[in-house]
Amino acid sequence: MPEFTDKELKCPVCAHKFATRLVIGFNIGEKESDFCPRYLDGNPLPNFLHVCPECGFVGFEADYRDFADHRNLDRLKSLLQGLHWQKGQQLGGAERYRRAALIGTYVGKRSAEVADLFLQATWCSRMEGEPDDEERNARRKAVKYFELGLAAEEFSPDDLPVVHYLIGELCRRLGDTAKAERNFARLDELEKVEPWLKEWRDKQRSLMP
Ligand SMILES: [Zn+2]
Repeated sequence: MPEFTDKELKCPVCAHKFATRLVIGFNIGEKESDFCPRYLDGNPLPNFLHVCPECGFVGFEADYRDFADHRNLDRLKSLLQGLHWQKGQQLGGAERYRRAALIGTYVGKRSAEVADLFLQATWCSRMEGEPDDEERNARRKAVKYFELGLAAEEFSPDDLPVVHYLIGELCRRLGDTAKAERNFARLDELEKVEPWLKEWRDKQRSLMP
C-alpha cells in the first residue's frame, strides 16, 4: 500500500471542512509505453485528488488553496450543480481525473495541465478495468489538450520531445497512424532528444500497420 498521512481540507467552493489523506510514499517499477506507471504496491493516483463530500469539487491539495479566491468560482459552482452531486458519493480514480480535468477547463488551468489530467484518467481507467470507450474518450481529450498546449507554446523546448512522443503514442493507440507518425517524426527534427525516447519511439512505430 502507498503511505498516507491524515489531513483536513477546506473546500474552496462550499467552505465545507473534511478529513482526507495525503499520499507521502509509493513505489514505481517500470512504465508502459504511454508512461503509465506500474506501481509495485498499489495505485496512489486516485488519492492525489481530493473530493469534497459536500459539493463534489475535485482537486489536488494545492487546488484547495489556489482556488479559494478564484475569479471563476461562480462558474465552477454552476458546473458542480449541473453534475448533480449526491452528498458522500464515492468516485473512482478515473472519474476523479476526468472531473478534475473538466474543472480545470472551467477555472482556466493551462491546456498542458488539463492534458495531463486526462492522460492520468486513461491510466486509472485501465488499472480500474473500465470499459475501453471511457479510456479512449479521455485519450482523445488528452491529445486535444496537448495540441492546444503546443499551439499556446506552454511547453518548454526541453519538454517538446516527450510531448510529441506522447501525442504520437496516444494517436497510435487511437488508430490515427497518420497523426502518430507526424508526431513521432518530430523527434528527428528536435534538438536534445534522449536516446531512450527514440528507442521507445522506434519500438512503438514498428507496431503500426
Ligand atoms: Zn465543497
